[in-house]
Amino acid sequence: MKLQCRIEVVNRTHMSLNIRSNGKYLNSTLALGKETKSENEYFILHFSNANKLGTKYRLNFMKQVFSKYLNEGKVTIRFEEPPHDLCIKCEAIQLKCFMKLLKQCVTGEAKNLRISTLANISVTSKDNAPSKLVIRDRSEFPSKGLPRTLETLTLAGLKLCNFRRDILLLSQLSVLDLSSNEIEKMPPEFGRMPNLSELYLANNQLGLKGEVDWRWLLGPQLPNTLKLLDLSCNELKYLPKSMWKLQRLVTLKLDNNKLSQLPATLGRVATLRYFTVSQNVLTSLPCSLMQCHLEQLDISSNKFIYDTFPNKQNIPTLKNFCMGSLVNIASKVVLKYRLFYDRKTIPWTLVEFLDNANMCICGTPVVDTVFVKKEFDLKDYFRIVVCDARSSRVDFECYFCSPVCLRKLCRT
Ligand SMILES: [Zn+2]
Repeated sequence: MKLQCRIEVVNRTHMSLNIRSNGKYLNSTLALGKETKSENEYFILHFSNANKLGTKYRLNFMKQVFSKYLNEGKVTIRFEEPPHDLCIKCEAIQLKCFMKLLKQCVTGEAKNLRISTLANISVTSKDNAPSKLVIRDRSEFPSKGLPRTLETLTLAGLKLCNFRRDILLLSQLSVLDLSSNEIEKMPPEFGRMPNLSELYLANNQLGLKGEVDWRWLLGPQLPNTLKLLDLSCNELKYLPKSMWKLQRLVTLKLDNNKLSQLPATLGRVATLRYFTVSQNVLTSLPCSLMQCHLEQLDISSNKFIYDTFPNKQNIPTLKNFCMGSLVNIASKVVLKYRLFYDRKTIPWTLVEFLDNANMCICGTPVVDTVFVKKEFDLKDYFRIVVCDARSSRVDFECYFCSPVCLRKLCRT
């Protein structure tokens, strides 16, 4: 039996000399086998990329097994000779099966089980904890399911209608490419992926049915790790207002959708550098975008109105600044000083109210929803701008936090 897992080998001789181990868990394969000559002697072979020849541990020299955290997928096996502790981390069910077989070998119950002899154990590089898998045809799916050690997975152009839920088990996955399928929705549990940094969902059918359940994107883990999000060539008509929670997002691709407006909060993603939103139906951009230090912005083929005469609109007067409600005043303070809030401390309606705050042209958060449309030249703000040939001046929806900012806005 072979077990794909992550292992840290702690050499106890080093520890007695006060040499500390590096604490690194390496992708490994453990193989349980039987000695060729003896019927009752078993051993474990440990392979990793750093140790391709493998280290042999005889079960006769096994000293102790620490299995208190077996349910969490953690076990440590201590050997007398060599004086090593194998600290194993693995998917819990697989680890339990392995430990059960190990126990049977020790107690002698494994006599009737077929366990490979040393000569028959071969560990191919594929066996050795694969970290990358590309599937371009449905027939290529591994019969044993997706290896839990995957860090990069490509399932592109397979006409998948549904998201494969076994992907949710890949806790080490950092790059997932599901482009060119027919996926209409993602499960909310996807938001719990702990290590995902690049997600390619281009050429799917997200938003086909109008209403989109965005919980998969805003879940508890994903916003902390996601750096690249490709949602181009879908059917999206809107984006969630809490999109700003993707606090590590660097690249966002939204080309070829049906977006008529971007969330006013988008500029709160301070890390955003590459943003493409060509071939949509946008008529204006949120002013918060001017706060982002974008390296590249592509807004070509949208519905911006290139008006030679500035449109006459009702400029808000000082009346808009009459004393706001207590909620508004308190919210501004919470946002200004970045005070922590969540659904456990305040009502969820308030959480939503704070999450949806807009941004003034000066960068201060604003909870009011009144805005003025104002034309700006994109080239003044962003390094590389791809836009239609007519003009690089487009309308921005400008929110304002104070009479000072409003006056500034009207003057420019
Ligand atoms: Zn302001």
